[in-house]
Amino acid sequence: MVRNGYIQPLQALIEQFERLPGIGHKTAVRLAFSVLDFSDADAKAFSDAVLAAKSNIRRCRVCQNLSDAELCPICQDPSRDQHIICVVEDAKAVMALERVKEYNGLYHVLHGTISPTDGIGPEDLTIKELLQRLSDDTVQEIILATNPDISGETTAMYLSKLIHPFHIKTTRLAYGIPAG
Ligand code: ZN
Repeated sequence: MVRNGYIQPLQALIEQFERLPGIGHKTAVRLAFSVLDFSDADAKAFSDAVLAAKSNIRRCRVCQNLSDAELCPICQDPSRDQHIICVVEDAKAVMALERVKEYNGLYHVLHGTISPTDGIGPEDLTIKELLQRLSDDTVQEIILATNPDISGETTAMYLSKLIHPFHIKTTRLAYGIPAG
C-alpha cells in the first residue's frame, strides 16, 4: 500500500517523526530514511531507548524533576543546601542551571506555567507539591526562576502571593542567570 508516495511502513515512520516539535515534513522524511539505513541492531537500540526512557523516567517524589528513581540525584545529595528552593518551569531549566555549577540549593519543577490562552491553570502545575515542601521550617528562601515572558511572570507573581503567608524570603530570578 502506498500513501503520499511512500510505502506504508515508511509513511508510518515519517508520521512519527513529524510529531516531534520543530520537525517539519522534509526533516521527518530525511530522519526516516536515515533510520532505514540503520543496521537491525542499531534500529533495535533506537526503539529500545525510546521505550526505556518512557518506562524508566518518572518524576522525583520531592522536586518533581525527571528521575530514574523515587528521589532524583539532587534531592538525594546531602551536600546540597536544603534551605533554598529554585522554582523552574521544566527539567531543561534544571539542567541549564546545573551546567553553570553556581547554585547549590534544591529545585522545584513546575512542569509548565500558568497560561489561560493555552488552558493551563495553577492546578495543572506542581504547585500543591511545592507548598507541601514549605510545611516545615526547612526552606528559608525561594528563587522564582520561571522565564521572563508573560506566562512565566504570571506564574512567578501567582507563586509569590501563595508563598507570602509562609514568611519565606522570595526572590525573582530571570531565567539563565546563575544564582549563587
Ligand atoms: Zn528531586
